[in-house]
Amino acid sequence: MGKGMEEIQVRAAAAEEPGIFIPAGAAEVLERLQKGGHEAYVVGGCVRDSLLGRQPLDWDITTSARPEETAACFAGERIVETGLRHGTITLLLRGQPYEITTYRLDGAYADCRRPRQVTFTRSLSEDLARRDFTIGAMAYRPGEGLVDLYGGREDLSRRIVRCVGKPDKRFGEDALRILRALRFASVLDFRLDADTAQAAYSCRGLLHKIAPERIRVELDRLLCGPAAGRVLREYRMILAELLPEILPLHGFCQHTPYHVYDVWEHTLRTVEAVEARPALRLTMLLHDMGKPACFVMDDKGQGHFHGHPAKSAELARGILERLRYDNRTARTVLELIRLHDHRLEPVPSVIRRLLADIGPERLTQLIRVQRADAAGKADAAREEQTRRVNETEILLEEILRRGDCYTLRDLAVSGQDILSLGVPAGPEVGRLLQMLLRSVIAGEAANTREALLEKARRMVGQK
Ligand code: ATP
Ligand code: MG
Repeated sequence: MGKGMEEIQVRAAAAEEPGIFIPAGAAEVLERLQKGGHEAYVVGGCVRDSLLGRQPLDWDITTSARPEETAACFAGERIVETGLRHGTITLLLRGQPYEITTYRLDGAYADCRRPRQVTFTRSLSEDLARRDFTIGAMAYRPGEGLVDLYGGREDLSRRIVRCVGKPDKRFGEDALRILRALRFASVLDFRLDADTAQAAYSCRGLLHKIAPERIRVELDRLLCGPAAGRVLREYRMILAELLPEILPLHGFCQHTPYHVYDVWEHTLRTVEAVEARPALRLTMLLHDMGKPACFVMDDKGQGHFHGHPAKSAELARGILERLRYDNRTARTVLELIRLHDHRLEPVPSVIRRLLADIGPERLTQLIRVQRADAAGKADAAREEQTRRVNETEILLEEILRRGDCYTLRDLAVSGQDILSLGVPAGPEVGRLLQMLLRSVIAGEAANTREALLEKARRMVGQK
């Protein structure tokens, strides 16, 4: 009996073990700081992810050591003074980066942005108190175990994002935290605690004070979370603070047999349906923004949205510029929005033509976009479009595997060959090559030297 009790207790104790397995490199960082006479813990996202049974992306370390004391513990190693002003240095240990941050209090907050200056402290609890959410305010070190002063573990098990301290005060200090809360809810598929949600909503106007670059980073991560659709649905009015262009989508009935949802609900479903990459998720979020402005109803009571891809792209351009997206992402998103309604024909010659116009990478993305777009439509429209998309994808794979010609580079004849037929150097050479390419793409001519030279001779002779 007694032995049984003991066993139960041992098991209970084991169940309380946080299950944090620190990799050798991070453990060495903690050890060297401790040998130097300092406190050191892994903290934040890595603790949270470990407790969730997820593989942490990186191991951040918090320490009582001042930055110069930290540096002294790692003499001879490569140190990058990334955020020295905030007490952060990046240590490169055997090629692996570790962010080591001195315990700190955040000083006065100016304009709801990050603090202008920080104050170092020797107290871990003060350092944890400045962190935004309970699930990211836990520290751990082997031997001591978990330091969880704000119920982070409990919130993790309840799948809740909750501010450390008073939510409106914390959002008032740094409004980016509103978006971080939504980001964690999306990425982890968590809910916001009621008070935190309430404060996020009422403080949403403060988001205007946040640098667009910081917003963009969080928005990308929010969009790429598995629960992005739900979070955007639930916190539409917070998103609308950043993207007022979404407001007319909500409740906008489409009056067409292709759709059962309003434009906003359709949009959310397509966001969740597309691969979790920022450019693709952004494309879906913005792809139908121009619909309300393009809406017309015919005399049978059916709605039409002629020209909406161009209108959506125009609105999207403004948004992408405002949020300082890089040119590559902006170009990808805008092109995909413009193309999203292009009717894909699963016919090899048509696909080769499209390849010639937009290239294989864009066409592959377009297939993903259209598959997601279809997923948000009424049954019949979804099935029809999905079939087109799937057949196009299969044909595209075949075309690429076979190495079908769809560019001048792949054409079996060159400008030199055309010149050797006696065509004078000049624009006529290019024009002939383009005509040959067109007939190869269309499947009217084989892409062989003989066939194309013969065809070129005939074309030249005809003149
Ligand atoms: P992930 O690495 O997955 O993004 P994370 O929780 O580590 O998640 P980071 O942005 O890396 O998030 O920040 C590390 C830690 O720093 C957070 O866990 C949090 O404790 C704290 N932190 C980051 N940004 C803020 C902020 N704006 N306000 C308060 N604390 C913050
Ligand atoms: Mg992190």
